[in-house]
Amino acid sequence: MEKAYRSYGAYLKGLLGCRTCKLTLDAGFSCPNRDGTKAWGGCIFCDPTGSSSRAQDGGESIAAQLLDNLGKQRRRFKARKFIAYFQSFTNTYAPVDHLKVLYDEACAAHEDIVGLAISTRPDCVDAEKLDLIASYRERLPYVSVEYGLQTIHDRTLERINRAETHADFLRAYEATRARGLDHCAHVVLDLPGESWEDQMATADRLAELGVNGVKIHLLCAMEGTVLARQYERGEWQPLDPGDYPALVCDFLERLHPECVIHRVAGNGHHEHIVAPRWLQRKHELMQRIDAEFARRGTRQGSRCRVTRP
Ligand code: SF4
Repeated sequence: MEKAYRSYGAYLKGLLGCRTCKLTLDAGFSCPNRDGTKAWGGCIFCDPTGSSSRAQDGGESIAAQLLDNLGKQRRRFKARKFIAYFQSFTNTYAPVDHLKVLYDEACAAHEDIVGLAISTRPDCVDAEKLDLIASYRERLPYVSVEYGLQTIHDRTLERINRAETHADFLRAYEATRARGLDHCAHVVLDLPGESWEDQMATADRLAELGVNGVKIHLLCAMEGTVLARQYERGEWQPLDPGDYPALVCDFLERLHPECVIHRVAGNGHHEHIVAPRWLQRKHELMQRIDAEFARRGTRQGSRCRVTRP
């Protein structure tokens, strides 16, 4: 069934001509929000693996992680091409010559690696690092930077101990766009203290900005997080499963129809979710989002206020 939103899988197939999967990496980075440079302890939802998918063993080399994961993805998803995805922690948090060594190793690990995706904090990029990332377009057809935006509201960023502001995102975003680099903004729904209107304002702003891609997460408590401890103390309650499909559809309806949707429920490894446990049934959740769009007769962009970013 055709999706009511522009899915990342379909986008990659159009761009690269075949089924393409991301290979997640833990390159041994830390984060200025965990090591005391900007704050201690990290975002309330960040687990000890740095919000990793746990598909890799961070003790192994970049090439070893990629080759191991590549074989598994080829068997499981029949993927033919792959994107090296620097996912865990903050993947530009090092001097540029060290970044180059790591990114070079990823690009050279296998002939079927045709893309590079770098996930990072907006306050951890500068002109030199973005120029380095942009330089990989000379050898790869797909190069992308993924920014943890989470929300446009500074009061929420403070509440989740993000230790950065929306202005940081805007600076990084403009520098990224100025280089014509593909990019994606991660957002988290149901953040503490955010009303439905607050969340829709984030969607509207993303449409106005004309971001290339959005990855949607639901706030969830992974093992070992501040949020999990809040949950265990009864200080935080997750969203009801019946409310999520409508919330996602409301959000997607406001995004621009050409924005690529990387995920509609991106979260950590299901075995390590403390709450909400219903997020473990990802396939069922995706079906309910599809069904909600079908019931409404709408799709991504139906309520977008921007005619062309
Ligand atoms: S910025 Fe990313 S890596 Fe750093 S604490 Fe927050 S979620 Fe974790």
